[in-house]
Amino acid sequence: MKHFKDRIWLILVFILCLSVMSFVIKGKTSGFSFMNYLSGINVPFEDTAFFQYPRIFFENSLMEGGYFYSHVKYKSPGWVENENLKIPVDSEIFFTPGNSLKLKYVSRQGGYWDATIDYNNWRGKDHFEEGNLLAFKLFIRTETNRESLPFISIESKDSVFSETISLRKYLPAYRTGKWLTVSIPLKDFQNTSVRHSDDIIGISFSQGKADGNTNEIYIDQLEITPDDETTANLKNAPHLTRASGYERHVDVYWDTLYSSQYRYIEIYRSEDGKNFQGVGISDPSRGLFTDYTGIPNQKFYYRAKWLDDKYDSSEFSNTVDTLTHLMSDSALLRMVQEASFRYYWNGAEPNSGMTLEDIPGRKHMIATGASGFGMMAVIVGVKRGFISRQQAVKRFTRIVHFLQNADKFHGAFSHFIDGRTGKVIPFFGKYDDGGDLVETSFLMEGLLTARQFFDRNNYAEKFIRDGITQLWKDVEWNWYTRFPDSNYLYWHWSPDYAWHINHRFVGFNEAMITYLLAIASPTYAIKPDLYYKGWASQTPYAQQYRINWGGTKSGSMYTNGQTFYGIKLKVGVSSGGPLFFTHYSYMGFDPHAISDAYTNYFENNRSIALINYRYCLENPNRFDYYGKGVWGITASDGPFGYNAHEPVAARDDGTIAPTGAISSFPYTPEQSMEALKVFYRRYGKFLWGEYGFRDAFNLKYNWCAQIYMGLNQAPQAVMIENYRSGFIWDLFMKNPEMKKALDDIRQDVH
Ligand code: CA
Repeated sequence: MKHFKDRIWLILVFILCLSVMSFVIKGKTSGFSFMNYLSGINVPFEDTAFFQYPRIFFENSLMEGGYFYSHVKYKSPGWVENENLKIPVDSEIFFTPGNSLKLKYVSRQGGYWDATIDYNNWRGKDHFEEGNLLAFKLFIRTETNRESLPFISIESKDSVFSETISLRKYLPAYRTGKWLTVSIPLKDFQNTSVRHSDDIIGISFSQGKADGNTNEIYIDQLEITPDDETTANLKNAPHLTRASGYERHVDVYWDTLYSSQYRYIEIYRSEDGKNFQGVGISDPSRGLFTDYTGIPNQKFYYRAKWLDDKYDSSEFSNTVDTLTHLMSDSALLRMVQEASFRYYWNGAEPNSGMTLEDIPGRKHMIATGASGFGMMAVIVGVKRGFISRQQAVKRFTRIVHFLQNADKFHGAFSHFIDGRTGKVIPFFGKYDDGGDLVETSFLMEGLLTARQFFDRNNYAEKFIRDGITQLWKDVEWNWYTRFPDSNYLYWHWSPDYAWHINHRFVGFNEAMITYLLAIASPTYAIKPDLYYKGWASQTPYAQQYRINWGGTKSGSMYTNGQTFYGIKLKVGVSSGGPLFFTHYSYMGFDPHAISDAYTNYFENNRSIALINYRYCLENPNRFDYYGKGVWGITASDGPFGYNAHEPVAARDDGTIAPTGAISSFPYTPEQSMEALKVFYRRYGKFLWGEYGFRDAFNLKYNWCAQIYMGLNQAPQAVMIENYRSGFIWDLFMKNPEMKKALDDIRQDVH
């Protein structure tokens, strides 16, 4: 802790000396505007609850229809309403806008029904607040007797259900047609191994008294809470700063608030300025809410309330209004760029100014590679006027300072860093507690782009340039070859476990930039012949490596030569692999610039993108939503977790990630534009949000990702920019080391 506090002071003093920051601390809870957000000073590190998640089983569903994270079973003559054996989502009756779960059931002798809500466990949603109550809001729509209400049980991690208990006992104030609060002490559940909030993985409702009637109840805000929560008596209403209308959605902004006392902001919309309806809830620290209205050329009014842990609300805020309007293609491109950019700007980890792994996710866990991508997105933000150059200077000053003091391992950074302390977080397991060379290379891609962008002759920009040069010079790329005569770069090194992970990497995949930068290094370069001997190696080891990941011999020699859907693939495993292979290395590095003995990489990337497109049109797995405008198979979140989906039938489960098609703009402008319009206009209601397109969707399972991922938003902003102007490519390629690396590789072609 001491070290960390020292750093905060250093940063504080440094910033004050530059006189570039102003900040406001308002007593116990600090409300502050977007500009102050950047200072990072107000983040309540001592407020540990801020970094914790309540264990929520249901608040709202992005999708209508059957709720993906549920399952239903029944035995006639009992019955419970379901859609594809899932609990229906209801958008008419809800406690928090915009929906709840509907339980419509008939309990009969000799029959049975059961409806279970499963925990949706996504990446980085951990650090749970400990609770001892199962709490939810209940709405009884029918004239149901107390005894006819369901029984409840909880499911523990070992998939064992507790004994059931009757809901009727926990309703002292029994009413129908009104939202009631239910709190059940966890200790009342018998025969369960549950000891902590996060031991619970399911909540089950099941048949009560067999009265033979059709009963209808609604469940909302189903969660585990502590029993000592009190009302916060929220005195101040939110202050809405503006509403911005786009074609079919509105962004509503407020003065951001960081405090665990403020649970939600509840957003209300009106079309006449008089009658307001709740349309959603959000995190007060997020600073904006995206309301997908679906309607162009319409005036909308907004206001909002804070909610505390008890769902007691503040007064209404002021009202803001705006118009939606039809948008041209270039305006749509700008809109996607701006929203994706926001992930790295408004959504940044506040102390370091760097990029979170996912949102929502761990609130202090920086992802190193995604941070490099984010730097390029922030520069796009200056180019397109989303922020001023001066704002970007402040941000990069903070970032460079943070990185100078963060953990380094022979100059390389770890995959995940604690944004509060600069310390490594071994999120992928204990052996991953050292340098990650691929993540480091994505970070350097962003830093070296910034080094060229901040070219003015003043103190602040010189500080950024010089700081970046030092970080770049400090990376010991050749250390990561492990042995002096090695032909490969190794992905990881740990001070505690050395080369235990033992991952030599070869192409073709997302990591070409790693070999290119290692060859380009002015201080610790590897030999240029590792490009062919390592990255493009054709040894039995490299062949087997590719076969293992591709599940096929196709492309195991690095070169491929097969034709897919009429397109010859010169380099690539299988049918080219996930689309991110054509994005990550080439956000900064212009693929036009590199031709090796086998191909030019702009041409090859275009082939991979076109194969992906034509695969989705042919649609061998027959997903009824695939086709023109719905394509792009790549690594993303999915209904069953994060996965590297590929355009081959066995690795295509129906998940489409918008970053696939959108980040391919330079390669497939027409097909990508078509996808952008369909994603926004047809699927925007669930797919479009504060940071652009959510990570992925899968209509076979009626599923959409709750999260945005740091790796997947920036490529959209940056690759659209490269398509529009080549701006980021031009900046990165200005680094003189790149020309030298390309010359070295070229001389090595025999
Ligand atoms: Ca709700």
